[in-house]
Amino acid sequence: MSISVVLFTSDLRLHDHPPLRAALDGTELTVPLFVRDRAVDGAGFAVPNRLAFLADCLRDLDAGLRERGGRLVVREGDLVDQVCKVVVEADADEVHMASDVSAHAQRREERLRRALEAEGVRLHVHDTVTIAVAPGVVTPAGSDHFAVFTPYFRRWSDEHLREPLAVPRTVRVPDGVGSDPLPSRGDLRGLSEGLAEGGEQEGRKRLTAWMRGRVSSYEERHDDLAGDATSHLSPHLHFGTLSPVELVHRARRAGGPGADAFVRQLAWRDFHRQVLAARPDAGSADYRPRHDRWRSEREARDDIEAWKEGRTGYPVVDAAMRQLRHEGWMHNRGRLLTASFLAKTLYVDWRVGARHFLDLLVDGDVANNQLNWQWVAGTGTDTRPNRVLNPVTQAKRYDPDGGYVRRWVPELAGVEGRAVHEPWRLPDDERAALDYPDPIVDLSEGLARFKQARGR
Ligand SMILES: Cc1cc2nc3c(=O)[nH]c(=O)nc-3n(C[C@H](O)[C@H](O)[C@H](O)COP(=O)(O)OP(=O)(O)OC[C@H]3O[C@@H](n4cnc5c(N)ncnc54)[C@H](O)[C@@H]3O)c2cc1C
Repeated sequence: MSISVVLFTSDLRLHDHPPLRAALDGTELTVPLFVRDRAVDGAGFAVPNRLAFLADCLRDLDAGLRERGGRLVVREGDLVDQVCKVVVEADADEVHMASDVSAHAQRREERLRRALEAEGVRLHVHDTVTIAVAPGVVTPAGSDHFAVFTPYFRRWSDEHLREPLAVPRTVRVPDGVGSDPLPSRGDLRGLSEGLAEGGEQEGRKRLTAWMRGRVSSYEERHDDLAGDATSHLSPHLHFGTLSPVELVHRARRAGGPGADAFVRQLAWRDFHRQVLAARPDAGSADYRPRHDRWRSEREARDDIEAWKEGRTGYPVVDAAMRQLRHEGWMHNRGRLLTASFLAKTLYVDWRVGARHFLDLLVDGDVANNQLNWQWVAGTGTDTRPNRVLNPVTQAKRYDPDGGYVRRWVPELAGVEGRAVHEPWRLPDDERAALDYPDPIVDLSEGLARFKQARGR
């Protein structure tokens, strides 16, 4: 009897799953396997919010497999050792998995390939599972990746995408392969109160609602902080409960300016992935060094703490930082302006901010987080690396009535309209009645420091 193992990693779904489809087509029995990789925990990536979402995803995946006659096998330890063990226990002939882009994932895949080859077992790595257009498929002349988004997007848009695959009807798992218990969200402490629910079913519900509703107004509303009119699909893309290939197809079928703008954002996701695949060190090292001599963490300690706690005295910055803590998620416009505030106005190393985001974000992702931080810090792919976002101007433009600030900063809930963005301009008696800090930095001084640091 021919037997395969499907190793699930960041692709925790049954719909449009090329490794599972290939395994089911090619062999009679299949072991669906997830390994809780100790190296990921060791690197500090296993934080409560993402572990909780992951637990939801694994339960849902197991339930989906059981409905089809199968089950999920869960193991913990070194990923390569665990896959090899399962291969031996199941007497499997081949292993299927999705490709991935981080330095860790690339090393892991290579180790696994060699270990399996030594056992005479073939590893099949499938490209378009966690990405729509795989790294290296579109490249500019003379380089292995695009460093600028616009020309990348043009070429990306012309690429032919494979058709999404149907969900399998049955999955037959061999007997005798044991599993650890499924993890549970209930065992975790320190979760964000408003954390979203994980799992493929939940992701598909959100996707359907999004495609039927708000996607059509996405182009004009995606920056509206109070309107919160983006898809919230990022954690589902991060854990792979939704397929990017399927999302692009569905959005293109829907058509219109909103769906087009949404597809463009999905291309940003692929863009960062092809950068990281080519330059795995960009997860920690400056992609384009600007010779920054960041303020030391000791010198900037109070500023960093105020930023993390949402007590900078700039209401829109504080609102976004509190949303991050409360939901484990933050609106993209909030991510842009809080990151600019830390890296440029406070002139603190982008890695400090990126680490804090990764500690809390349910969609926290090496490619998207580190490369967006680098983009904002001006060490990445932004073609205007020295632009600085002014939090007051940003607030007036993207939260014109102040609703976003009042939602997340209850101390300011009584301040009406756009006055909420500049509490220091309120009449003295009103200002004095607020339990809200003064700005920790003067914006023009912050700007001058940054310009000087960058030799402008
Ligand atoms: C400093 C900073 C850190 C970020 N960290 C992360 C992160 O860790 N994980 C993450 O998924 N996104 C990150 N982003 C990108 C973006 O903010 C989020 O993807 C988006 O806010 C998620 O909300 P949504 O699903 O409603 O997005 P939508 O606006 O509905 O967009 C749809 C999808 O497109 C992708 N996307 C959107 N914007 C971007 C972008 N700028 N770069 C790459 N992909 C994008 C996401 O997968 C998103 O789910 C970061 C952005 C910044 C500026």
